Amino acid sequence: MVRADALRLLSALSDGSLAGVEPTIDEEGRVEYTEAQHYLEFHGASPRETLDSLAGVGLLEKEYTSKTYVCPSCRTGGLQFITACPYCESTHTDRPAFFEHDSCGYVGPSTEFEENDLSDEHRCPNCDARFDSSELTIERKHRCQECEERFDTPAHRLWCRDCLHLCPPEEAIENTLYDYRLSDDGERWCSSQIDARDLLADEFESRGFEVEVDITVRDGEKAYPVHLRAQDALLDQQLVADVHSGVDAGDVRYIDLVAQRLEARPLVLSVDDDPSTELLRTATEQGVTILRLERDDSITRPSAVEVETESGSNLVKRVTSAFDLSSWKRTS
Ligand SMILES: [Zn+2]
Ligand SMILES: [Zn+2]
Ligand SMILES: [Zn+2]
Repeated sequence: MVRADALRLLSALSDGSLAGVEPTIDEEGRVEYTEAQHYLEFHGASPRETLDSLAGVGLLEKEYTSKTYVCPSCRTGGLQFITACPYCESTHTDRPAFFEHDSCGYVGPSTEFEENDLSDEHRCPNCDARFDSSELTIERKHRCQECEERFDTPAHRLWCRDCLHLCPPEEAIENTLYDYRLSDDGERWCSSQIDARDLLADEFESRGFEVEVDITVRDGEKAYPVHLRAQDALLDQQLVADVHSGVDAGDVRYIDLVAQRLEARPLVLSVDDDPSTELLRTATEQGVTILRLERDDSITRPSAVEVETESGSNLVKRVTSAFDLSSWKRTS
């Protein structure tokens, strides 16, 4: 359910080396979770997808912070709000005072009503009457300097200062931003997973294996994080293991895939709940061993396997106790 690299991220949040995961916007206007990316290496999911799935199972708290708007033309962020002429899209508009002469109804910019003297009187450019300000209504109107149209409501636009593209707000690329923090459940879960992994590591070490935890297997461009690798150079034995609570078919396929790349034996340690018979059957068919961590920290092999593996692999059949790796070595 949770890959090794995701556990690596959760551990960093747990031990405080990472305070939280906050988004940044890259040059292309994409939302990046750079801090998370540093820990998350698996090629099959984006950091955002991994963060969301960890939040989905309650290990992370996901909190909405804000939104950004990115230019649909050049992908730069930081668009600026600007008003524009609804007739010709020019942003060169102003909002001067307009006078309406009450008796004849003529409306025009206040400058058209000015008299070239110092009196308080105005002159109507339409009916030529002279009057004082009690006979007119003052209002403000938007005016386009490009096409000279007048209007009460300007068009609302977002403007890119980089490429000068102008667009209606709904055409801008909207990014919703979230912060991620470790939840209390995540904290508990994280330490129980690490404990289980270390327990497994101890088991292998006590049997003479050289053990590495939290490693990444690379195959060309691709990276496959796994919880544990145990090697016995002398006997040329190698094993890769993942620790999971709520093991599913995807977990089984994944460790099998990694094992194939290393020509190692695949193993999954199930923590917290019992894998289903169906899953155990699938795992057995694929040659993936599933072990279970009991409440008393002992490691057992789920009993369903023994029933299902009459025609199964030699490996599983001959592992008489769940963890009898000496017999393992002999039978390989
Ligand atoms: Zn732009
Ligand atoms: Zn008039
Ligand atoms: Zn205009």
